Amino acid sequence: MDFLRPASWEEALAAKAEHPTAVPIAGGTDVMVEINFDHRRPEYLMDLNRIGDLDAWEVGEESVRLGASVPYARIMEHLRAELPGLALASHTVASPQIRNRGGVGGNLGTASPAGDAHPALLAAGAEVEVESVRGARRIPIDAFYTGVKRNALAPDELIRAIHIKKADGPQQYSKVGTRNAMVIAVCAFGLALHPGTRTVRTGIGSAAPTPIRARAAEEFLDAALEEGGLWDNGKTIPPSVAKRFAELCAAACNPIDDVRGTAAYRRHAVGVMARRTLTWTWESYRGAHRITEGAA
Ligand SMILES: Cc1cc2nc3c(=O)[nH]c(=O)nc-3n(C[C@H](O)[C@H](O)[C@H](O)COP(=O)(O)OP(=O)(O)OC[C@H]3O[C@@H](n4cnc5c(N)ncnc54)[C@H](O)[C@@H]3O)c2cc1C
Repeated sequence: MDFLRPASWEEALAAKAEHPTAVPIAGGTDVMVEINFDHRRPEYLMDLNRIGDLDAWEVGEESVRLGASVPYARIMEHLRAELPGLALASHTVASPQIRNRGGVGGNLGTASPAGDAHPALLAAGAEVEVESVRGARRIPIDAFYTGVKRNALAPDELIRAIHIKKADGPQQYSKVGTRNAMVIAVCAFGLALHPGTRTVRTGIGSAAPTPIRARAAEEFLDAALEEGGLWDNGKTIPPSVAKRFAELCAAACNPIDDVRGTAAYRRHAVGVMARRTLTWTWESYRGAHRITEGAA
């Protein structure tokens, strides 16, 4: 196995163009496991750790440009206000050691349906900035996941950054696992309220071949909130609406039975997480806008 060590982004793109089968390594928390277990024996490993730009971030007017290798620990520490859903998801990843190394670029590279960043990115709304010697492009997050552990990257492309919309409302992330830490999700759910556009976005992990959104549930809830004037009057979401939203989220899943859980349990758990995260985010929206039912 040869080890490529580009010193700049341009060198990395050139090396990837010359050796499209080269496997990039950032934190190494997925790659090294695969190599250690002999699941993968690449001809070339390409170390991205000398490229400084990849572990930096910029907070813009509307979005955060997150370098592909920014570790989860930094997101939790520095970007909690801008990216609350992703910060909450980061908290649930593995252990402090892994959170100090692993990042969102690696999670996207692996594209496991169980990756914790995905539901948060889907709910917040994100674009993946990728580049090759042929040029740069931005892939909407909804189009990024193409199959089980497959993504939309071309063989010569690398992920440079992720552009994530700054939160304009409450966000939540919920994960079911067999314990509280060092656990791969049995299933997971991300929810983001977007009062600016009066929309709600979801993200579901580990309950379908790829991370997905529950679009029918989003459309149903958008209509119910609008019809009831709830964004303005701040009334509690009627239990029948929360129940239907949960049912539609569960119905969006296409899970399998595996060692971590049955398909039926996953569907049920996604429904429970959908209802709970909706209640939590809506209560915090009402609180932030000091909306009380008496005043409405
Ligand atoms: C003990 C343990 C526990 C874990 N627990 C969790 C968990 O709870 N939740 C979770 O989501 N994950 C978990 N993981 C998996 C892993 O930590 C995450 O997927 C992490 O985000 C990977 O990031 P990394 O930087 O280490 O990626 P790497 O291992 O360096 O790379 C992962 C993949 O992405 C590709 N890649 C990396 N950077 C780029 C780039 N810039 N452009 C193109 N491709 C790139 C690599 O080639 C590889 O295919 C765990 C891993 C371990 C070892």
